Amino acid sequence: MLFNQFQDLQLSALGFGTMRLPLLSDDSGTIDQEELDRMVDAAMAAGVNYFDTAHPYHGGKSEGAIGKSLARYPRESWYLADKFPGHQNVHGVTELQPEQVFEEQLERCGVDYFDFYLLHNVNESSMRYYCNPEKHCLDYFLEQKAKGRIRHLGFSCHGGPDALKQFVDQYGKDLEFCQIQLNYVDWKLQDAKRKCEILREAGLPVWVMEPVRGGKLASFAEQTEAEMHALRPEESCAAWAFRWLQTVPKPTMVLSGMSNLAQMQDNLKTFSEEKPLNAEEIAVLDKIAQGMLGTIPCTGCRYCCAGCPMELDIPLLMNMANEMQVGGNILNLMMRYSGLGDGKRAGDCIGCGQCREACPQKIDVPAEMGKLVDAVAAQKSWEEVCRERAAIAAAEAKA
Ligand code: SF4
Ligand code: SF4
Repeated sequence: MLFNQFQDLQLSALGFGTMRLPLLSDDSGTIDQEELDRMVDAAMAAGVNYFDTAHPYHGGKSEGAIGKSLARYPRESWYLADKFPGHQNVHGVTELQPEQVFEEQLERCGVDYFDFYLLHNVNESSMRYYCNPEKHCLDYFLEQKAKGRIRHLGFSCHGGPDALKQFVDQYGKDLEFCQIQLNYVDWKLQDAKRKCEILREAGLPVWVMEPVRGGKLASFAEQTEAEMHALRPEESCAAWAFRWLQTVPKPTMVLSGMSNLAQMQDNLKTFSEEKPLNAEEIAVLDKIAQGMLGTIPCTGCRYCCAGCPMELDIPLLMNMANEMQVGGNILNLMMRYSGLGDGKRAGDCIGCGQCREACPQKIDVPAEMGKLVDAVAAQKSWEEVCRERAAIAAAEAKA
């Protein structure tokens, strides 16, 4: 196993993410504990020492399952990360209290401290909660850290670079690491490159989530896979995604949400040695990424922005339109879109066409705004999702 230094700790370069655990049925709450135990055994035997869970994963069942599995090993032989779901506290539908959730998490996991703890999913929408001083959210977790119940405090971020920068500028001094979505597609699609630069400037180590983009980078069309196989016959498509991460400024932790023992074994083999991609291999991934970037060739130059009478963040909206086309975590995208605020969404474009004239790429921005409005309308809004979740939680509490 490869290891990376984080402060005084040696962390395995691969961490086990528990968002997509093996299941006994279609119900995401029916975790196959025996298969999970086998996966944890294989991970521990190979030197993995970092395990990541969160309050909402598997409908609240992930924390208990991984806690139970890890309890078979001495507490000092593993590091457990959990997260506070403040991103669910943004529309007045739910108001999860840090004190209540944190105590519940310790109990669910069967631990009396977390090695790592994160504010979950900081983005354009959830910052309204996280950055509200009246909520005392960060204050509460800093207190828990002072008491030794949290050893290291950080945050995960699904927001765009501007939101990340704003959050880091405001709270970075109190936080020790940041988890972002990083892979060879999101390097451009989500501007993960800029996010890495922002974090590096702030001195915050990078934790990687979605290195295989929820499995989307684990298999391709026959011809593409043949091309990859010819260059690296011994490595899977998923391994290529991890090898790409060895070609960018080094992240401290790479989390992979594995769903079975075979995936675990493949990842353990990958993380047993460094084998960064060469230029020819990187070109293969660039070609794949290019095909997955969405069809709007916005470069983010912002030439269009100054003259927009509605003061819309046009490149951000073009980027969201591309993400909508590419797919993946649409729920997060809807959450971010909701967080843009009234008067700042695609539907607020009045179609004046100024941006089209200013755009060096000749993008028909008003037409793309219209398509984004239609695409958003076809999805459940984040507010609807919050209401549904609150209704389920209330029904469960009643039962
Ligand atoms: S067409 Fe829409 S996005 Fe473009 S400048 Fe006019 S209002 Fe702004
Ligand atoms: S001018 Fe065109 S390429 Fe530049 S940010 Fe605006 S839409 Fe994107």
